[in-house]
Amino acid sequence: MWVAVLAAAVLADAPEPCRGGSCGAAWNGRLVGGVAMPVKSRHTVLHGGKARQRSAYGTRELVELLTRAANVVGASVDGPPLVVGSLSDHDGGKLAGHKSHQTGRDVDILFYARDPAGKRRQSVGFYDFDGAGRCTHRRCEGWTFDDQRNWWLVRTMVWSKRPVVQWIFVSNPLRERLLAYAERRGEHPEILRRARKVLTQPGNSSPHADHYHVRVYCSVEDKAAGCRDGGPRWDWVGR
Ligand SMILES: [Zn+2]
Repeated sequence: MWVAVLAAAVLADAPEPCRGGSCGAAWNGRLVGGVAMPVKSRHTVLHGGKARQRSAYGTRELVELLTRAANVVGASVDGPPLVVGSLSDHDGGKLAGHKSHQTGRDVDILFYARDPAGKRRQSVGFYDFDGAGRCTHRRCEGWTFDDQRNWWLVRTMVWSKRPVVQWIFVSNPLRERLLAYAERRGEHPEILRRARKVLTQPGNSSPHADHYHVRVYCSVEDKAAGCRDGGPRWDWVGR
């Protein structure tokens, strides 16, 4: 009996089996063979530059999605690069200041913004924006949320087939603002339907009025090797 209890306890503590890629759950896992976001590419830049690259590792799929989405935005509406915050550490696991970000499937992204003169400018930091699209921090007084570029980013992400995006966490006022903008511009109903599900203000952390947090589902290969999704599986995701 004690042997069985002891064995169960040891098993419960043992790391989940993993054969590479994104391993375990986003909040309790690790990353094997991750890829680093470049410090700078044509349409992306790392927040904090080279010093922050050690926490810029993600699955190849996620890094490719970020690059692709930023390229789509940059090609559609000219302007400064997308500012990318933390992904995961080289080997994943606990990342200071975050609950998730452990398996290379999470990323923080700054909002596209305009300066007080209305010029599109690179986002300066993690500062709150309200539902009227105004930055409410004194360090970005007069700056506004760039509806057009932010929507292009969201629509590209929710339409991605590989990886499929599970969540884009963002505050309710900004979520409403984005969806209202998309409706006004006559967005495709299926893109709108998906965005309504994916754009969410999380209940268990900050409201995300100062950045997006994007999470993608496990790829088919990673899932077979020990990647674990949590939460809803949207009806457009393959089995
Ligand atoms: Zn995050």
